[in-house]
Amino acid sequence: MKLYFQEEHYMLQDMVRDFAINEVAPLSEALDKDERFPIDLIPKLAELGLLGIPFSEKYGGAGMDTMAYTLVIEELAKVDSSVAITVAAHISLGTYPIYLFGTEQQKAQHLPKLIAGEYLACFGLTEPEAGSDAGGTKTNAVQDGDEWIINGSKNFITNAGYSGVCNLTAVTDPDLKRPSGISVFMVDPKTPGFIIGPPEKKMGWRGSDTRALTFDNMRVHKSALLGELNVGFKQMMTALVGGRISVAALSLGLAEGALQAALKYSDEREAFGKKIHDFQGIGLQLADIATEIEAARHLVYYASYLKDQGENVVKAAAMAKLKASEVAVRATNFAVQVHGGYGYIKEFQVERFFRDAKVLTIGEGTSEVQKLVILKQLLKGL
Ligand SMILES: Cc1cc2nc3c(=O)[nH]c(=O)nc-3n(C[C@H](O)[C@H](O)[C@H](O)COP(=O)(O)OP(=O)(O)OC[C@H]3O[C@@H](n4cnc5c(N)ncnc54)[C@H](O)[C@@H]3O)c2cc1C
Repeated sequence: MKLYFQEEHYMLQDMVRDFAINEVAPLSEALDKDERFPIDLIPKLAELGLLGIPFSEKYGGAGMDTMAYTLVIEELAKVDSSVAITVAAHISLGTYPIYLFGTEQQKAQHLPKLIAGEYLACFGLTEPEAGSDAGGTKTNAVQDGDEWIINGSKNFITNAGYSGVCNLTAVTDPDLKRPSGISVFMVDPKTPGFIIGPPEKKMGWRGSDTRALTFDNMRVHKSALLGELNVGFKQMMTALVGGRISVAALSLGLAEGALQAALKYSDEREAFGKKIHDFQGIGLQLADIATEIEAARHLVYYASYLKDQGENVVKAAAMAKLKASEVAVRATNFAVQVHGGYGYIKEFQVERFFRDAKVLTIGEGTSEVQKLVILKQLLKGL
């Protein structure tokens, strides 16, 4: 991949691959089975610098680029999507908005701790009645002297049970035309009125933490406002564009993990006196999936490259996320098929891969929403 990588990328890739194989993979089955958050891995991830890859050294980050961050998520997802999304949500959704839009004081307060893994961060955008239509947020904030009083709720918030700060959207000026009039508040979950729901029971990503949040007359000081007032929707959408590249990287890694498992099994399993990849029905599909994965890889790396060049990546990120997530669903489905009945048994990791894949076409914007984003960008070019 000389087209996209420099020496430092190869070194990072080797390091994360070793870590994923030696430290993450042995835990993956239990994390999934017991729906257990990988809390013990957080200090190790931080120690390796993996929670601060794209952030400035000034705050304790590695000062590396998007391509490096993409590689980290890809390598983790080859073995464990729950660990990969825990890191991706922490970086792209939790930490990045503070990095991009926080005041110097807000950055100094949170970034070193987030990068050191002292606590995680979460991103509260989705609500029971505002998912794809995220600008339809109903959570509201009313100013009262030096404080804001926030009421409302959020749904499906990743890392919510382990975060020391949650970036959440609330309507601060109902008279402005949406999506203006929404602001982001960085809230300490220990604030009275911040109610954290139990972990959701999920099809996949069972080792990751997903919860509903409720805000009941929650009072936050005005210093909790992230950057400027009434531009929160724009801030969150900017973070989501980066987040989509990380979900695309996660999808790519998962698809690669599934293909490797399918290839290996197809070389071991025999039927009718032949290895099963010698049947064209299996062998040609392995080639098809591998080709799809390479196509997805180029979209993911290209979006990362463009972001590093400071280009507008709205379309490239949506295309990468759309393609890679759909490929992950196909690749994991096929990997189960190649394993026959064993693919349906939990002892084989492709069963977990299959369940972990579906959410990739839903979270951080569904496939339909990615297509709407792509179309909008295409029409802008007319
Ligand atoms: C495990 C998990 C973790 C998540 N983590 C977070 C998180 O950390 N923070 C956060 O804020 N959110 C998070 N989400 C929420 C996620 O981003 C939303 O679920 C997603 O954006 C879809 O919103 P929705 O569930 O309300 O579906 P809806 O918006 O109700 O969509 C339902 C269906 O309608 C389709 N649809 C909707 N509008 C259109 C349209 N205009 N054109 C065509 N089709 C349309 C959708 O594509 C979908 O198929 C998470 C979700 C999951 C499952």
